[in-house]
Amino acid sequence: MIPVDPPSGLGLPSLEDIEQALALEGPDRAEIPGLYALNAERVPMLRLIGLQAVLAFAALHNTFMGVGPEWRVFLAVTLAVELYAVGSLLVLRRFFASFRRLHLGTVFVGLDLGVFTLIVWATGGARSWMWPLYLVRVADQMWIGRRRAAIMAVLGVFCYGGLLLGGSLSTGFEAATAVDLFKVASLAAFAAYMIAASGLPWNLQKRTPAARQVIVRLEAQAREISRQRARAEHASLAKSHFLARMSHELRTPLNSVVGFTNVLIKKQGANLPPRERDYLARIRENGMHLLALINDVLDIARIEEGELETHIAPIDLEHLVRDTLHQMEGRMVESKVRLSVSFPKSLTPLAADETRLRQVLINLIGNAIKFTREGWIRVEVHADPRDGTPASLSVADSGVGIEASRIHTIFDAFEQGESGYARKFSGTGLGLAISRSLCDLMSFDLSVASTEGEGSTFTVRFRPITDPEPVS
Ligand code: ADP
Repeated sequence: MIPVDPPSGLGLPSLEDIEQALALEGPDRAEIPGLYALNAERVPMLRLIGLQAVLAFAALHNTFMGVGPEWRVFLAVTLAVELYAVGSLLVLRRFFASFRRLHLGTVFVGLDLGVFTLIVWATGGARSWMWPLYLVRVADQMWIGRRRAAIMAVLGVFCYGGLLLGGSLSTGFEAATAVDLFKVASLAAFAAYMIAASGLPWNLQKRTPAARQVIVRLEAQAREISRQRARAEHASLAKSHFLARMSHELRTPLNSVVGFTNVLIKKQGANLPPRERDYLARIRENGMHLLALINDVLDIARIEEGELETHIAPIDLEHLVRDTLHQMEGRMVESKVRLSVSFPKSLTPLAADETRLRQVLINLIGNAIKFTREGWIRVEVHADPRDGTPASLSVADSGVGIEASRIHTIFDAFEQGESGYARKFSGTGLGLAISRSLCDLMSFDLSVASTEGEGSTFTVRFRPITDPEPVS
């Protein structure tokens, strides 16, 4: 049985002790400090003090009521009770923890009833007014549970009834009166009332097993979750470390491959037969694709590790957009697509990391070129008409568009189109994931609107430069 303490500082075990006791089975409970302190220290000490008061009261009772045995007998009883009180304290202190299976605390609570019977006998037996003493144990066991209180009540009634019966027997039933029966009945009635009224312990008693199950289950879940989280964090970190290292190791030789192939094409290209020239061009093309992939992987790894820093400063957005488009002109040479760009009349500087925003732009415009066979691409910058504060930048195209079912996944890493058209185009599937992370780092918002077969519009929404919050 687990002691359940009232919510007060009565020196009873703490909730933690109780939870620990709930989680432990049998003997191990005796090792819980709170339970040891309660059973082997506080209760025996309270018993010692309480019995002094009871003995003093018994002496007064006998004096004023003129009942009880002669003084020598009373003194002998007093001595026996003192010995019991001190003895129980010593025994519990010494042996409570070692003889865990004996439940010594409970044993002494039961023995108390015998001591009470001795005191009632020494205060006049049938004529004693100290029989309510038995109710003390019913009262304090109520905190532990209704069953314990009921056991104490039954034992108390038996002890008192037995005492009265013994007295009656010794006098040939002469002394047995209706009053005796009434006293036993009142003891039983009081005890029954106390048990019935013990709603709180009863509730606790009922709820304890359920609460125990919940606590145990929640603890197990919490342990499992933190184990899994630690495992996931470790795996994610290991992956990022691996990617960063491998990407670095791969980039160096690959740069040589691309670089020397370029040199070969430039210097020897004209002398080579067309087939070999084509081979070299393919080596360069594939090398560059691999390099782009590695760069993207490196960026993703850095972003995931939180290592990618941004340097926010006021930038000239119009200049950045024009410059980026100029840089990408090469990709448009063979394209039948019309490219247009528009800016607002007045445009104030934008707080952004120029390199990172350029990277986003290259990716968005690069995708628009890649996924638009014919038609148009429009790059538009919007600003607040009142003061020219940059509001957004959009890259729209009349290309293949994106299926509605994929629109939310295209920003995930390694997410690429399934459509035959999209598959024709090289790509890493990392560009949009990187672009969105970069926008997040600059506190911008990257979104898309698209209709399959009609085209797509990617929009970067900016924060006003006057925003007091630092951007990093
Ligand atoms: P990728 O390197 O494959 O272009 P991205 O992350 O940049 O990787 O893009 C992910 C996917 O989103 C692309 O494979 C494509 O299916 C789709 N996508 C991106 N931009 C466009 C666009 N302008 N038009 C149609 N589909 C696009």
